[in-house]
Amino acid sequence: MEKKKRNLIAVITVLLVSGFLATSLISYFVAQTSLRKQMSETTLPLTSDNIYSEIQRDLLRPIFISSLMAQDTFLRDWVLNGEKDEQQVNRYLASIQKRYGTVTSYFVSDKTRRYFHPTGILKTVKEGDPGDQWYFRVRAMKDDYEINLDRDTADRNRLTVFINYRVYDYAGEFIGSAGVGLAIDAVKGLVDAYEKRYGRRILFVDREGQVTLHGETYRGPDNIRQRPGMGAISTQILTSTGGDFTYERDGQTMFVNSRAVPEFKWLLLVEQDGADGEKGILTTLLINVLVAAAITALVLFVAHLTFGAYQRRLEEMASKDKLTGALNRQVFDSLLRRAMTLADREKGKLSLAMLDIDHFKNINDTHGHLAGDIILSGVVDVIRRTVRESDVICRWGGEEFLLLFENCDLEQARALAEKIRTEVEKHSFPLRGGRVTVTVSLGVALYGPGESERDFLSRVDGALITAKRSGRNRSEVAA
Ligand code: GH3
Ligand code: MG
Ligand code: MG
Repeated sequence: MEKKKRNLIAVITVLLVSGFLATSLISYFVAQTSLRKQMSETTLPLTSDNIYSEIQRDLLRPIFISSLMAQDTFLRDWVLNGEKDEQQVNRYLASIQKRYGTVTSYFVSDKTRRYFHPTGILKTVKEGDPGDQWYFRVRAMKDDYEINLDRDTADRNRLTVFINYRVYDYAGEFIGSAGVGLAIDAVKGLVDAYEKRYGRRILFVDREGQVTLHGETYRGPDNIRQRPGMGAISTQILTSTGGDFTYERDGQTMFVNSRAVPEFKWLLLVEQDGADGEKGILTTLLINVLVAAAITALVLFVAHLTFGAYQRRLEEMASKDKLTGALNRQVFDSLLRRAMTLADREKGKLSLAMLDIDHFKNINDTHGHLAGDIILSGVVDVIRRTVRESDVICRWGGEEFLLLFENCDLEQARALAEKIRTEVEKHSFPLRGGRVTVTVSLGVALYGPGESERDFLSRVDGALITAKRSGRNRSEVAA
């Protein structure tokens, strides 16, 4: 029974735990998959689109300013009139710089190759000078303008984004290049602002993988080929025009979206740590598991109680006589044997009494079997009230009972038997026809060390027979 109960509890545990674990894990993985899908298919591309359009917008203004400069009739007239008063063009460039807050503004005349600056002539550009290559590129290009990231000619330490516009005379002939320069710091500030706004890391890299621009949070190497984790997929990133990538770093999945920024010939990389979003679903998983554990514990507790009660009820049914509530013979047998072994081992006194209701047949005959049953259980109630709680009462047969008194010598057992006898005698049992009294006879015996169960029982039975023969309503002690 105990084993069956354990097995059943184990089966319930396995079913509950595996069921809960399966649903928790399935929902975790489903959530994780959809989160990752959403991240690489929606969230990151959207961020990247937003940033790209913001960058374009922020660059539009300087492009517009440069275009105004290239169209300016003053500038063109001044060149066509032979570049006479340098002060005039300096003032012009200074006012552009001041009004639009650019780092620099410039004009290079194609005729004289002089590089004008708000403060004067900076230099004369030369075809062989690597620092002046940009001018000859602009001079030869088909587009009206280019965006170029370069060292500022006036301040070599400063990286500047230049808008280089081609300037034409009224006949459409190329006469020079004008434009403005934006501090890279200002652009960097924009990247920081984007990073904060979108909560993601933003990197600009050129086609060689060199990091050209990054926000405050970037701590990696100058080239993404050397970046832990990302290095392995850097060629893939750099050779594509854009897409979604993932890589592993420190056991975390990192999501990357890349897109080309053709104005700079750069790639814009937007990166997000997968753990950020996954922390939430991990917490959900944890809560699920905890709730499942609590429910499992509760179900097991209730099952344990239910089985316990059920088991106790079964045991009671199997061990007790239904009518009187006294123990049955089978259980009594084992209790008696155990008590005898204990008495042998510890030299304890063990007494046994056998009780039989006098002339019970008459009661049945006079009042009916139902009345007989009521008296039978009534007698047991009287016995139970008279003996100690630890004393064992067994229904041995029809209206015969065995009473086991542990740690009780013959004298005490005899006194107890007499007490039972007188209590029963005094008691009147309520029946439908009025109250009825009965008497009982008892035989008492003390267990002799090493005595067999059969001998012990037959001695006590003998004492009962003596009591009956001697006139009933009495107790007799076995020799
Ligand atoms: P004695 O004084 O010699 O014991 O006389 P007695 O009539 O009690 O004789 P005996 O012990 O031989 O008879 C027992 C009777 O008890 C027989 C049976 O009809 C009755 N009996 C046995 N079990 C039950 C029971 O569960 N319910 C009822 N109502 N009667 C029972
Ligand atoms: Mg009898
Ligand atoms: Mg009898």
